[in-house]
Amino acid sequence: EHLLADRMNSLAGESAFQVLAAANKLEAQGKKVIHFEIGEPDFPTAKNIVEAGKTALDQGYTTYCQSQGLVSLREAIVAYTEKYKGIKSAKEEVVVAPGGKPIIFYTICVLINPGEEVICPNPGFPTYESVIRYVGGVPVPINLEEKNDFRIDVRELIAKITPKTKLLILNSPSNPTGSFLTADDLKEIAEAIKDKDIFVLSDEIYSRIVYEGSAKSIATLPGMKDKTIILDGFSKTYAMTGWRLGYGIMHEDIAEKMTKLLINSNSCTTHFVQIAGIEALKGPQDSVDAMVQEFRHRREVIVDGLNAMKGVSCKKPDGAFYAFPNITGTGLKSSELAHYLLHEAGVAVLDGAAFGSAGAGYIRLSYATSLDLIYAGLERIEKALKKLS
Ligand code: PLP
Repeated sequence: EHLLADRMNSLAGESAFQVLAAANKLEAQGKKVIHFEIGEPDFPTAKNIVEAGKTALDQGYTTYCQSQGLVSLREAIVAYTEKYKGIKSAKEEVVVAPGGKPIIFYTICVLINPGEEVICPNPGFPTYESVIRYVGGVPVPINLEEKNDFRIDVRELIAKITPKTKLLILNSPSNPTGSFLTADDLKEIAEAIKDKDIFVLSDEIYSRIVYEGSAKSIATLPGMKDKTIILDGFSKTYAMTGWRLGYGIMHEDIAEKMTKLLINSNSCTTHFVQIAGIEALKGPQDSVDAMVQEFRHRREVIVDGLNAMKGVSCKKPDGAFYAFPNITGTGLKSSELAHYLLHEAGVAVLDGAAFGSAGAGYIRLSYATSLDLIYAGLERIEKALKKLS
């Protein structure tokens, strides 16, 4: 242990994978577990995308390729981004990576010197804080509160800005809360930072999974495009988590440095996977729409089911596929409840505190699982909660 690099002490694991491992252990002992912990669509990747991947393999797209990403994929990303986000960009500004996660890692590596501050959502995706610490940066959490629909309070944001602030991380729609920032929020946030040397990492991985209105990108606001690193990817929108494909759009200078990191770590993103990605962006989008429709229905079922339980109250999320109920009324801490539900009821959920201190008192349930399992899981939770009282 003492022979390992000190920086390793600052990297955290991800609780979704830890809970999955604990659940799998119970399953190996013959217990039946219902899984609400992992955030991935339960739909297969659409046939046209799979076929494009297979054909690419047959055609020999099995070699190294451009580190920054295939020109044809980057062009497809530019067209897609204009169509869906209303943002004009150039292929030189796009970096393709094996997932959206590496874009988080690379962005923080490219921008953050030791001691520099990064404002990040609390509760928020745990990778942000983990990587900030890894590079010696200082995470400055900003609380997303239920009474404010889990949106950023811009006055609090302004109060957290110091001369050391280098980066603001936004995640809208948000994991774990499912909320997204309104157009007014984005305007106020942009106003607060646009004249400062502060960049924004805008994690838009759930941008297509929205149930009410639409989630805008902060990069659409005047003066913000060059300060923003837009992160998006294929995992959630196209049910392609295991393919590992994502991308960032950013100022060309940042893209150039990010590509250097990619060259030194991955060389390039898998060639035939990128070809399948082109089909995902350019091909029919009806499977995305059908998936979102199905999530919309499940959202109603899970939110209503949770709200019917004593001690539990759940806001209806506007996007992503997570329910984030307040469980303080159960009398248990969220860590205790998550543990109790797994071992007593065979239901795997995440402790909200795994997403930051402000997540304590909440649990996260992914409803990217079948309606049957949602009904069965709700029944198990309700029974287990009744045993408590
Ligand atoms: N950002 C957020 C908020 C996420 O929830 C996830 C996945 O869970 C990612 C980024 C990364 O996804 P991927 O690396 O599969 O593209």
